[in-house]
Amino acid sequence: MRSEARIDLQAIRDNVRALADRAAGGAQVMAVVKADGYGHGLLPSARAAVEGGAAWLGCAFLEEALAVRAAGLDVPLLAWLVTPGEDLAPAVEAGVDVGAYDVAQLEALAAAARATGRTARVQLKVDTGLSRGGATPADWPDLCAAAAKAEAGGEVRVTGVWSHFAFADGGPDHPVNGRQRAVFAEALEVADRAGLRPEVRHLANSAATLTAPDTHYDLVRPGVSVYGLCPVPQLGTPRDFGLRPAMTLASTVALTKRVPAGSGVSYLHRHRTSRESTLALVPLGYADGVPRNATSTGQVQLNGVRRTIAGTVCMDQFVLDVGDDEVAAGDEVLLFGPGDAGEPTAADWAELLGTIDYEIVTRVGARVPRVHR
Ligand SMILES: *Cc1c(COP(=O)(O)O)cnc(C)c1O
Repeated sequence: MRSEARIDLQAIRDNVRALADRAAGGAQVMAVVKADGYGHGLLPSARAAVEGGAAWLGCAFLEEALAVRAAGLDVPLLAWLVTPGEDLAPAVEAGVDVGAYDVAQLEALAAAARATGRTARVQLKVDTGLSRGGATPADWPDLCAAAAKAEAGGEVRVTGVWSHFAFADGGPDHPVNGRQRAVFAEALEVADRAGLRPEVRHLANSAATLTAPDTHYDLVRPGVSVYGLCPVPQLGTPRDFGLRPAMTLASTVALTKRVPAGSGVSYLHRHRTSRESTLALVPLGYADGVPRNATSTGQVQLNGVRRTIAGTVCMDQFVLDVGDDEVAAGDEVLLFGPGDAGEPTAADWAELLGTIDYEIVTRVGARVPRVHR
């Protein structure tokens, strides 16, 4: 092993079970597996989520959903971001629910239905205040009317109505979240008056799944929490919410050497040894997802000690200055994990670097093998 991302599939199963336990009023769980299962591996994560009780799976892009289908997972599955000209027929044929944000997308799905001879399963998204995907409240009645017409023609079936929060980390009481809930409730009434009878209405991301039961409707749509990360760190650790981080990023010391005091270390000599010292070379770099901003700040665990990266993070490697500690080539380096061995967590990395743990786990590069246990 040079480097690997160890994925604890039991943690994913248990996390989904914990989220299902939290889902209010019998709401089911749609486990979000976009972006290669938040970096944890699409198919193993999807399987583990289903084993843990996820009734639905959610993806951003069609090819993610089709890969899930091709692997034989036949749970209901939503893909929510399509662009003009994408071939929607394979998704319609595979029974993938596709998100529609405007009438043009709805028509493209109806055309794919005619081409395949199958009814397209469509989930209409309303923009309740994120101003990202979805129809604005002003455009929503027309979208619902067009969908009802297409439904009457047998081309589409509106299986869902859904929206997404702007403040994932704002906690349950953020005023924008409150406004979005009200807009969503209104949009549901508009859809109902248009004659739409969706199987599922859904709004809650991880944060709302963990903290706002009145947003759970028929389905909660957690992503990051499936992988054991907590989107509301100000309200508690993963453990406080019954979650366990599923990814451990590990590497191996490739080389050690003694260098004299005053040695400039790594590009631009941003670190200089204060005395004769042992340097340890770690074969992971920014191409593998170690942020270059972690230069001289990122922390790792090596032989039971937290150590700060010495100088610049390079594309393939970084250096640790371990002083006079006993470190040998072949020793294990833990970048982040659940924290059991005293290693940092992805949340620690995120806090140090001014980002969110979502980005820390999803950016682990394709060169790093995922090892599922
Ligand atoms: C990514 C995403 C989610 C999951 O969000 P988390 O904060 O990771 O729980 C849910 N819904 C949509 C539309 C998303 O894009």
